[in-house]
Amino acid sequence: MARRDPHSYADDTQVATESLALVARVDFTQRVLHAEATLAFAAPGGGALDLDTRDLAIDAVEAVGAREAAALPFTLHPAEPILGARLAIELPPGSTGVRIRYRTSPDASALQWLAPAQTAGGKQPFLFSQAQAIQARSFVPIQDLPGVRFTYDATIRVPAGMTAVMAAERVESSEPGVFKFRMPQPIPSYLLAIAAGDLVFEPIGERSGVWAEPEMARRAATEFADTEEMMRVTEELFGPYRWGRYDLLVLPPSFPYGGMENPRMTFATPTVVIGDKSLVSVVAHELAHSWSGNLVTQDSWDDIWLNEGFTSYVENRIVEAVYGAEFAVMETAIKQHATVVKLDPLTPAELAVELPGLHHRSEYHGTTSTGPLKGSWFLSWLEERFTREVFDPFLRGYFDRFAFRSINTDDFVAHLREHLLEPHPDVVTEDELAAWLYEPGIPAFAERAVSARFQVVDEARDLWLRTGELPGGAEKWTTQEWLRFLDAAPDVLSPLLLQQLDRAFGLTGTANGEIARRWYQIVAASSYEASYAEMAEFLTNVGRMKLILPVYQALAGTDRAFAAADRVAPRQVRSIISAPGLTE
Ligand SMILES: [Zn+2]
Repeated sequence: MARRDPHSYADDTQVATESLALVARVDFTQRVLHAEATLAFAAPGGGALDLDTRDLAIDAVEAVGAREAAALPFTLHPAEPILGARLAIELPPGSTGVRIRYRTSPDASALQWLAPAQTAGGKQPFLFSQAQAIQARSFVPIQDLPGVRFTYDATIRVPAGMTAVMAAERVESSEPGVFKFRMPQPIPSYLLAIAAGDLVFEPIGERSGVWAEPEMARRAATEFADTEEMMRVTEELFGPYRWGRYDLLVLPPSFPYGGMENPRMTFATPTVVIGDKSLVSVVAHELAHSWSGNLVTQDSWDDIWLNEGFTSYVENRIVEAVYGAEFAVMETAIKQHATVVKLDPLTPAELAVELPGLHHRSEYHGTTSTGPLKGSWFLSWLEERFTREVFDPFLRGYFDRFAFRSINTDDFVAHLREHLLEPHPDVVTEDELAAWLYEPGIPAFAERAVSARFQVVDEARDLWLRTGELPGGAEKWTTQEWLRFLDAAPDVLSPLLLQQLDRAFGLTGTANGEIARRWYQIVAASSYEASYAEMAEFLTNVGRMKLILPVYQALAGTDRAFAAADRVAPRQVRSIISAPGLTE
């Protein structure tokens, strides 16, 4: 046994998957996929092969390319809580691949099956997948770890009148109800993605567009109109977009994330489609993953900052290039504030757990949600020290050198020394580097982003809290200014202040999920029952964890029972609990 990743049964000494051929029928009645997966190996081989599965029913296993009898015995070991069940196969010598016929479970952790009533259209059911971090194994038996990359082909059959999409290139198919796909670039398993429902396409630009239910497609394409421009500026900064098209699939509101960077097709929450483009940094984030994460990938979940820290940095550069420096600084300040507030009260020991150094070996799922921010802060700091003239070509060189590879923090640090620190000595010290890479917390010498507009907001909030005078000019505030106003407000406010603010600015019932999250957190912590009906509506309609978990936490902190919690669909709660908070 030579397990290379604590979150997978994959064994380094065994054959490695080079490509996958997937044939699946989507069965909405039973809520299962009836499927056949053929894994082709990088080189012919034999002997033991261990694959990751979770809740799969295995019907048959066959060797491909070997001379001996095709049908193979196999053992599906008892499931372990985190890893799932090891599928052990003994391959005859000279096998070029293995074919597995199987069915998924209605409870497959990666698959969310929605009844028609849970969709915008209300007529057709809907299916979408979320494979990150280690859920791909619940719909494909595979070596499920970011260190193994493969290309794939897929044929998906859906009921008449429905459309299937995958995070891959579409291939023409003349058969009704049959959709074909091809992913020619090697991807890690967590980027496998599928969806099916009543979907239509609305173009944005030459290389980009939106897939969504008909009710949503046009609105989303308008909200995301700057996608093409985002692609252009990122290519200018960090090299070519290597995936062909970039489309967005807008999902029903129960999707647990803001976005998931599935290659060629970001899966996105509808909670950012609000009509004023103020929350489209989610698109910048997911697009940035086309470089950091999808192109250059963390070798294991321990190194997640290589995906998320780099992406948060690139996201901010895209936002700055498209929407201006002031907007970008506000976004950075909001993220830094959230991190610092969370970290400030911690002891050094707690800090080492909550925000360890970037070079860190950890328990299951690798990281806390604050780790990537430290990574992004580190890159901004390097940029500041070396200037963009030096740092931008360095980063572009990093993406070029490691394109379509999975690497770890050591690989990055070696590259950093060779291509940035050594050619430019005396810009940063070893102590400074060690503070970022190995020590807990945010280094004391790291400067915080300062937004002039936020200083105005801070003064307005202080005055309001002191005197009850409502913030002047707030009706013209951007989303980000409102977020700042609420972020730095006390957790608990008096009913009088809450009522006054709500009457003036209509925060209760806002369509803006980010504002709603902050507002309802205060509402919940303050037990301000006048807003409970709308808060319940928000909590039961939205599945995006980032928006609803803080509100539930605030509710849990009060001593009042809250009936709406019972109204959340059990499936949604399960997906919230099982999906680790790795992405937006
Ligand atoms: Zn991300």
